[in-house]
Amino acid sequence: MSGVCIFCKIIRGEIPSMKIFESEKTYAFLDIGPLSRGHSLIIPKHHGAKLHDIPDDQLSELLAVTKKIALAQGVENYNVLQNNGRIAHQEVDHVHFHLIPKPNETQGLGIEWPTQ
Ligand code: C5P
Repeated sequence: MSGVCIFCKIIRGEIPSMKIFESEKTYAFLDIGPLSRGHSLIIPKHHGAKLHDIPDDQLSELLAVTKKIALAQGVENYNVLQNNGRIAHQEVDHVHFHLIPKPNETQGLGIEWPTQ
């Protein structure tokens, strides 16, 4: 955990978020500036700026949780995106996977978010 990292503060509950999943190693919440309805961020609780800073066991859970959320959303068309470094458009220096449903995929669906 980092004292200044905005995503570490979200994990600790110091900054509010729309949480959709939490486990011992992983936290997921709705993106504050969604590109489409249901745009989610899946992050490791272990603080690391880039993919290579995260232990393998945490990385594998991140992808499993990403899949679980996509299934819960009921979307079949979506992008999973993970940026590393400023030139690659990373703004927040805490590893995060974006799960971005294609527009209209989730419109009108009753989304049941996983709680665990
Ligand atoms: O991959 P990148 O670092 O560019 O994405 C950061 C993402 O974090 C953005 O989509 C932004 O909307 C999101 N964000 C958020 N809550 C914050 C700060 C940033 O959801 N408090």
